[in-house]
This record gives sequence, structure tokens and C-alpha cells, in this order.
Amino acid sequence: MFKKTDAQPPEKLTGIELSEIPETSVGPKAIKSALSHIQKETGMARGISLLKKMNQKDGFDCPGCAWPDPDEKRAFLAEYCENGAKAIAEEATKNLITPLFFSTYSVEKLGKLSDYELGKKGRITNPMYLPEGSQYYKEITWQEAFKIVADELNSLNSPDEAIFYTSGRTSNEAAFLYQLFVRQFGTNNLPDCSNMCHESSGVALTETLGIGKGSVTLDDFNHADLVMVIGQNPGTNHPRMLSALSETKKNGGKIISINPLPEVGLKNFTDPQKPLQWFGKGQDITDLFLQVKINGDVALLKIILKLMKEREEKNPGSVFNHQFINEKTNGIEKLLDDLDTYTIAYLLPQTGLKLSEIEKAVDLIVNNKNIIICWAMGLTQHKNAVDNIRELVNILLLKGSIGKKGAGTCPVRGHSNVQGDRTMGIWEKPKHEFLDALENEFNFKAPRKHGYDVVNAIEAMYDKKAKVFFGMGGNFISATPDTEYTAKALRNCNLTVHVSTKLNRSHLVHGKKALILPCLGRSEQDFQVSGEQFVSVENSMGVVHSSKGHLKPCSEKLLSEVTIVAGVAKTTLKHSSVNWVELVSNYDLIRDKIEATIPGFENYNERVRQKGGFYLPNNARDNNFTPTTTGKANFSINKPSEIELEDNQYLMMTIRTHDQYNTTIYGLNDRYRGVLNERRVIFMNKEDMAKEGLEKLDLVNIYSHFKDEVRIVSGFLVVPYDIPKQCTATYFPEANALVPIKSKADISNTPTSKTVIVTVKKVKK
Ligand code: SF4
Repeated sequence: MFKKTDAQPPEKLTGIELSEIPETSVGPKAIKSALSHIQKETGMARGISLLKKMNQKDGFDCPGCAWPDPDEKRAFLAEYCENGAKAIAEEATKNLITPLFFSTYSVEKLGKLSDYELGKKGRITNPMYLPEGSQYYKEITWQEAFKIVADELNSLNSPDEAIFYTSGRTSNEAAFLYQLFVRQFGTNNLPDCSNMCHESSGVALTETLGIGKGSVTLDDFNHADLVMVIGQNPGTNHPRMLSALSETKKNGGKIISINPLPEVGLKNFTDPQKPLQWFGKGQDITDLFLQVKINGDVALLKIILKLMKEREEKNPGSVFNHQFINEKTNGIEKLLDDLDTYTIAYLLPQTGLKLSEIEKAVDLIVNNKNIIICWAMGLTQHKNAVDNIRELVNILLLKGSIGKKGAGTCPVRGHSNVQGDRTMGIWEKPKHEFLDALENEFNFKAPRKHGYDVVNAIEAMYDKKAKVFFGMGGNFISATPDTEYTAKALRNCNLTVHVSTKLNRSHLVHGKKALILPCLGRSEQDFQVSGEQFVSVENSMGVVHSSKGHLKPCSEKLLSEVTIVAGVAKTTLKHSSVNWVELVSNYDLIRDKIEATIPGFENYNERVRQKGGFYLPNNARDNNFTPTTTGKANFSINKPSEIELEDNQYLMMTIRTHDQYNTTIYGLNDRYRGVLNERRVIFMNKEDMAKEGLEKLDLVNIYSHFKDEVRIVSGFLVVPYDIPKQCTATYFPEANALVPIKSKADISNTPTSKTVIVTVKKVKK
């Protein structure tokens, strides 16, 4: 079966330039880049006044990633990074998309633009409707929009024929009302972007430690002896994390980074807040870099465990923390026996590393007590992703390096409130206790059948089992795998609805009818009947804090996420026990309901007004593992990758550029990797290129192979890069069309965007 995509942007190259890969990250170049985006999008004066409020205790939360802000003092001038500035520049852009724009440009015409070009069109100012068979969106009133949604939902044979997706920017208050509406409507079809990113982390951590979240705080980085960063590129995706790693180093800590790519952000850091250092050689971050092959993580971690065991056996008590193991854990015998079933000779080739390199890592692990392990998509988007994360937990448990200062787990979340949304109940597999609490508080019968996650939702729409798609933020078609398949699924729907701030491809790959419901941005003021409102979010470390807009909305026709959800709910639900209008009038009332139904939010309205917010309970942080099935922290048995490649096959991982945040493309440069002004590239190892008879910047088609299926994306440029043999990398969303919908992680069902088997063929000129 051969699948040629058509949902992708036209195959036009934008004029690539290859530049030197910089020796250091951040520094004055980051400031220059941030300010140029601000200048272009918002204007300098307006932009600077905005930036002064971002991530400040009385300001608004950066709509970028979920890296925490310091509990104590915030940087006066800049408590944000280059990519945070880009994120807010995009949101506060002066470019506006009015009804006139939509009456001028047809969906088909707009579909020919790239994701970058679409995003640069600006903020959508009015609710827009695309009638069946039409090519032009037209302006509509909010009431008419809510009625169209209500009529379509109420015409379904079952509530399970509707999909309610959430992207991680949605605030706690909006997310709580959204799940409440969806459950009163009668379904648990609440897929979210977590399904595609840290779902594997949630599964592994809940099983081993009793909580699906990380255990460390930001302050722990100041007390760590060793930080391991695996499958994560903080320099681009969580840039302020570099400041935390810089503090770890200054306090004598060591850093191991494990990644197929030698990312500049983990190599050297120039602190933008210290001008005197700008022209020095910067601060080296990584002490030991292990350039592991794609999906070689379990094999590497298992070799580390085997060598730790070997040293422990030679000198009992020198490696393992027996007190912690005896008191707090379960299952060590099975782990140690399982380690003996593998030989290093079998595991080592999967890593692409020399044993001597790995032994250096074991030295650092053995000789240090307080160890933090950080990770991101490089571990979570593989078939054995859950194994990856459980295996690193095994290392921490053997060392007793969790539940104490300077030690623990640190899955770094992508979206600013993705963790908060899950805490609010945005999950297709809700816990019974939570549904019981909702029923008690709101006097209704909650659906108990688990709903669709992202992959299952796409399959349900493709098979016409689901007929309505409602997206709370995000850019579903560009964020999801198997672009052609997902496009067909969305086009099968009777109605697709997107609550958005800016134009994106999901507005153009639509159902028979489509709606765009433009909402306020995080930086915009939100007035309701009782006055100005603030919302709240939860960062990667489980800190819940307020976020209050600062700017006058770019259009008076915008509504807040909370108001939109309440409007749809009130119009759709004939017999709801909820006073939606009252809850919208004052968000304190929503927080009262959250306090009444979700543990850890006692005195919510009081504590969220404390400067910096409050920490949610975290049993692993408190060295208490009783919530697990055994009442203890669980060692686990994990499987290395079983992928075997033909000689002409490569493993492909999709990655972001430095000018991108998820599917939002700020610019066309990836300056930390020396690729400028082009996104249709494939990074290849020089020896592999020679084997394929490929030269630098040769034009190729890329084919992915999954069972008997072949998918193709055409017109990519080959970029020689320092990447292990038989490993390649491309950018998403351009390469998402190669990720098969049925290629998923075991247990978590996360698409395997980091392990796609591909072949590459030169395009004959
Ligand atoms: S590190 Fe993340 S949250 Fe912080 S400013 Fe940068 S993008 Fe925003």
C-alpha cells in the first residue's frame, strides 16, 4: 500500500543556508532574536511592557513551555527566555485576521500556504463559520455559533460520537468547566496533547512511584550532585532550564546528557542576564555526553544497571542504598535476576556507544547520592517508551535518590498547562473517585466507560464512529501523526470546531461544516460580570499559580475560554444542574468547585492569590510510595528495543527547530543546528550519505515502512550532521505524514514519532 500525502504544504523549498553550529547557547544572540520578533509582531514599546509582566508574580504565565518560575525572587528585567518572548510576540501580534480576510481567501487558497505563513497572518478577531460545501468562512454571532454546536451534538446517536480535544494551553478554570460539560453531555472522549507527549511518563511513574508527575522542585537543581538529561533538548524546548543546570554546576554538581544529537544548549551556556560574560567562552554544561542511537535508551540504562550491580557485588553497600531499598521498595530480586538474562555484548550495539563511555557514567552515578533525571519526548515517543522511563526509575531507586533534596524524577512538560489540564480531569480514563466527587457536587450521573485518546479518536473519526470534533486550542492536524489519514478522519466529521487565537492548518482541514471560535490570549485582560478575572495554571513541578492578562484584547468580539465553554454547555445541555452563567461571572466560583472535587486544592482562592502560588501534594517528593499497587516504590522489568533494520533502512525521529514551539512556527531558522531558512530537511550521518550516494543538499524523497505500509514525503534536502549511523532526524509537522497511526507505544498508546523506519531515495533532477 502506497500513500502520497496531500494535506502537507506545497513542496516548495524556501532557500536553505547552512551556517556554523554555534559554540555556545543563549547569550546576546538570544536577546537579539527575541527583540527582533517582538519588534516585528508587537512593536518594541508595547512588547517590552508586555515582557515585563511575563512570569512575574502579579503578571501572566508564559504561553510557552511548563518550566517553573523561581519560588523566591524573579528576575526583574527578564524572567523569560528567547522562545517565551517569541511565544508572547506571536500571541500579542498586531496582525489581525478579520472577516474581510476570510471573504477574500478561500480555504483551498489558504491551504497552499505553509504552517509558518498561516501563523503569521495574525489573530482571528471574530467567530467564523464555514457552511457545508462552501470555500469561504463567514462571520457569525456567538449565539449562532453555540447553536450550531448544540444542534450538531444533540443530533448524534450517542455522546460517544463526539470528540473533545484539549491542547495544553487551556487554563485550569476552562479545563475544569470543559470536562464537566463533556461529562454532563455523556462521554469521556477527552483526548489531549498529553496523549502524544508525556502519557508514557504518567503510566510509568504512576506504576513505579504512585504519581504520574515529576517529584523534584526547581530548588532541587541547586542541591543535586548529578543531573542526567535524557532525550531532551532544553536549549530550545525549555530554555530557562539552562539557568537551573548552570546553578547545579556552580554548586559543584555534574551533568550527563544522553541524546542522539549533540545539542548546543547542553554543551555550553552564556547567561543573557550577565553581560560581562557575553564575550567570554560561556559555561560548559555537560560533563559527559553519551551520543546514544535512537531508541538505544533501555539498552544503555540496562548496561548501567548491570555495571552498578557488578560493583555492588564486589563491594556490598558501596552502590545500592539498602536502607531505602528495604524500607521503601518492592521487587529488587526480580530486577537483579532479569539483569543477568542480558549480556553487555547483546546490549552494547543497540547503544552505539563504547563501554568505556558508559563506565564513566556509572562512575558518576555510583559516586553521587543526590541524582535528578530529566527527560522529554526523546524517551516518551517510542514503542517501549514506558520501559524507557521505568528503567531510569530503577536507577534512582537503587540509589535511594528520590523523595529527598536534590534528587528525583523530572519529566519536563511541553505545554504551559498540560499538567494542570490533566489534574482538572482532562483525561479519557478518569479515576472513579474523581467521577464520584463530580456526581456528588453536581448531582448528575457521570459516564464511566473510558473514552478515546488521541490515536483512538482519529481512528474513530476515520471509521465514521465519531462525527463531531471540538478542539480546545491547539492545531490537531499538524500535531498528530499520519497526516493523510488524520486529514481524512477530520474530513469525515459533520462538524469540526476549533477554539483558537490564530489561524492554523486545522481550520483548513475541516469537517462538512466548520467553526472557528476566537478566544482571549493569556496576555489579554478578561472582564466578567464581577470584574477583572485571573486564571490559574500548573507547571512541571506541580506549582499552581495565577495568571492575569495585561493587554486590552485585540478584538472586542473575543470571548474567554471559560465563557466559550459555558456558552456551548448552556446551549447544548437541556437539563444541566450547573449554573454556567453564574460560574462565568466570577472565576472564584469555579475554583470553589475545583476545591470541592479535586484533592490538594484546599483554600484554593486564598492560596492561588499568594504570590507565586502553591505546591500540590506529591507523594514521591515526600518519600511516600503508598499509592502504588504494592504500597511501595516498584522496581520493574523492562525490554530493550526489538527493532531490526535492513542495511538501507534508518530510524527517523521528528524534532523541533529553535524557531518553533510545538506546531507554532515562529521563523524558518534552526540556528543551534546551523540550518537557516528551510524546514524540509533530513539530518543524516555522513557515512550513511556516502553509502546512499548522497551529497549535501541533495533532494530526496523519504519513505516510511510499517508492516506492509509505505508512506512518502517528497522534496527534502539532505543535511550532513553529527548523528549516529542509521539514525536520521526531520522536523515536525512536515514529517508527521511518515508516522503510522498504528505505530504506538505499548500501554500509553503514544505515537512513535521518535522511531520511524525510513528509506531515502534521491530525486532525479
Ligand atoms: S522556559 Fe518555557 S515557560 Fe519559561 S519563558 Fe521559556 S518558553 Fe516560557
